[in-house]
Amino acid sequence: MVDFTLTDEQKSLREMAHDFAAREIRPVAWEYDKDGTWPEEIIKKAWDVGLMNSHIPEEYGGAGASYLDGCLIEEELSWGCSGIQTSLGCNGLATAPLIAGGSDELKKEYLGRLTEAPLLASFCLTEPEAGSDVANMRTTAVKKGDKYVINGSKCFITNGSYANWYTVYAKTDKEAGHRGISAFVVPRDAGVVVDKKEDKLGQRASNTATVSFNDVEIPADHLIGEENHGFKLAMSTLDRTRPGVAAMATGIARAAFEFATDYSRERVTFGVPIAMHQAIQFIIADMATEIEAARLLTWKSAVMLDNGERNTLVSSHAKRFAADTAMKTATEAVQVYGGYGFIKEYPVEKLFRDAKIMQLYEGTSQIQRLVIARETLLPRRVQEPAAVPA
Ligand SMILES: Cc1cc2nc3c(=O)[nH]c(=O)nc-3n(C[C@H](O)[C@H](O)[C@H](O)COP(=O)(O)OP(=O)(O)OC[C@H]3O[C@@H](n4cnc5c(N)ncnc54)[C@H](O)[C@@H]3O)c2cc1C
Repeated sequence: MVDFTLTDEQKSLREMAHDFAAREIRPVAWEYDKDGTWPEEIIKKAWDVGLMNSHIPEEYGGAGASYLDGCLIEEELSWGCSGIQTSLGCNGLATAPLIAGGSDELKKEYLGRLTEAPLLASFCLTEPEAGSDVANMRTTAVKKGDKYVINGSKCFITNGSYANWYTVYAKTDKEAGHRGISAFVVPRDAGVVVDKKEDKLGQRASNTATVSFNDVEIPADHLIGEENHGFKLAMSTLDRTRPGVAAMATGIARAAFEFATDYSRERVTFGVPIAMHQAIQFIIADMATEIEAARLLTWKSAVMLDNGERNTLVSSHAKRFAADTAMKTATEAVQVYGGYGFIKEYPVEKLFRDAKIMQLYEGTSQIQRLVIARETLLPRRVQEPAAVPA
């Protein structure tokens, strides 16, 4: 049976997330964007009301929410400000490999830290020479007795300046390409160095940093799962987190659509509101259709996960389509505002800058198309990720 009706609990959750976004995020979003202000207070409040770490299983102190529930929260908070939501949601990305493959002790310790206090974790995959081409990473982890010694540098790490611990991907077999990557939990106090905070085009309230590991020693039991299985873990993590990114993109698109719709009713040209011009109506109509389609794909990709199904193809459909919809809708919103859309004083200028990142992080729109093409042309019987980019 196909049923798009949310349960009463899901409606309440969405309403709660929307109220939080309207009350705590929207009023400061444009101000925080201007100066790239770190949203520390908002993180604490979101943690207090249970809008962070909802995905962590109940046995480790989380809410054990479904992927669909997560998407409902992410769309609303991103409607408030996608930069702030990137900071709030990053624990989901960092913890996904640990939840999927970590030992019980590791989960108790590190998931417990996030549910006991408003702390953050980061996901460290990207390097200067390894973005889409993950297998080209240079960071190494060498086993010495009962420890691993990590050396290398990771760039563009969300919440990197503030994380209490990091999920770090490193080569444990330099000759084995993507089959030589392993994943580790690295506590900040093991000696992680934060090198640089990036100054960004959009999502300026989120923190993006370069972090380095210089002979950082961690206990051998901080390996997540098995040695050399890190690539598989990273790809299955992205299958799990792309629905949430698609939900965020839908939230940006919805915000741009609402601003454009309101403005089109107010702005008068040639004696009538611009909403009366068919050219503007068609822009609004296309926005509405594409946002609806983006949300349906997003929900489908999340529900598949909730049903325990492999969602690689659909999560790439959702992430690619929702990200491109966010960019297109924000661009068209600027068009509806005319010259005012280009001016910082008006809201859609920020949304236009924020939308761009949706086509870049967690796999660019090109990489999503590669996944979609591979899954379509070469459907695999064995459910193991192929050696294509992230
Ligand atoms: C604000 C921000 C936050 C981020 N947060 C994180 C984080 O928390 N953790 C993390 O690990 N990373 C993070 N990233 C990194 C992000 O995931 C990468 O930037 C992204 O995967 C692209 O990698 P790249 O920048 O090296 O681009 P490249 O891989 O160099 O790609 C450059 C261009 O070539 C295209 N391209 C590359 N290969 C192919 C191909 N085979 N076929 C067709 N086109 C191709 C790409 O689509 C892109 O258009 C973040 C990035 C930003 C900007």
